[in-house]
Amino acid sequence: MLQPVELYSALGKADQNNFFQELQKIYDSLPQTTCAGCATCCNWGSPPAFFIEYLNMYKYLRDNLKDKWTEFLEKSTEYYYLELVDPKQKCPFLNSDNKCSIYPVRPFTCRSFGLLSKEDFETGDRGLQQLAKKYWEDYGIKIADELVNSELPWCDKVVSDRGSYIPKVDLAGLAVQIAKLDYTFFPQELVDQEGTLLSYPAHLMNTVLGTGARARKIKVMKEFSDFGTKNLLSTFIEKARTFQF
Ligand code: SF4
Ligand code: SF4
Repeated sequence: MLQPVELYSALGKADQNNFFQELQKIYDSLPQTTCAGCATCCNWGSPPAFFIEYLNMYKYLRDNLKDKWTEFLEKSTEYYYLELVDPKQKCPFLNSDNKCSIYPVRPFTCRSFGLLSKEDFETGDRGLQQLAKKYWEDYGIKIADELVNSELPWCDKVVSDRGSYIPKVDLAGLAVQIAKLDYTFFPQELVDQEGTLLSYPAHLMNTVLGTGARARKIKVMKEFSDFGTKNLLSTFIEKARTFQF
């Protein structure tokens, strides 16, 4: 579990050191794209993002989307607890028109989806088979087969203004540049092991909920997996709703 850092001091540090401008420069080095907007990728789940990207997103939510705070807090709490046991969970920032509500601050993972050739695009083994085995043996929690056996398909609908796919190594190089911004907040070793790469909902829950509530994730998952109910979850959603950005 990623240890929460004091959010406002992290935001201040990022501002003082122009990290948000650096992040934007990295984003801007990607090609401009259009796509069919089917939202298959967003329905698949909330992808991982670096901590600096989360700070960027947090600032955007705080300053621009006050009327949406409650909705995002509710949906993100539910996603954080149930993403592995409820196949209906989708990215909490996908709106009812199948559009991204946080498009200007969507993470690198979303921006770069569709930029690799089919050969280079490997979702690979997400480790879910192993995770499912562990959850079953340790907690009696069944990870939905639908999730264990699914992979996000390669998308051929993304049109780049450069007219070609990006070599995998170049994309990885840009991700490393973002990771380096996280070194300021966490030990380098943790960042290099992808320890600061979490979905936006997981980052948000680190800020919003205490360690005790997050540690009860297993109980919430088990209640949903055994009975399909969300009683314990509803108490955490109530708590999260009261958070002020
Ligand atoms: S990137 Fe592809 S899967 Fe995602 S919304 Fe666009 S067309 Fe759909
Ligand atoms: S952050 Fe936006 S673009 Fe990325 S998965 Fe969520 S809704 Fe889709």
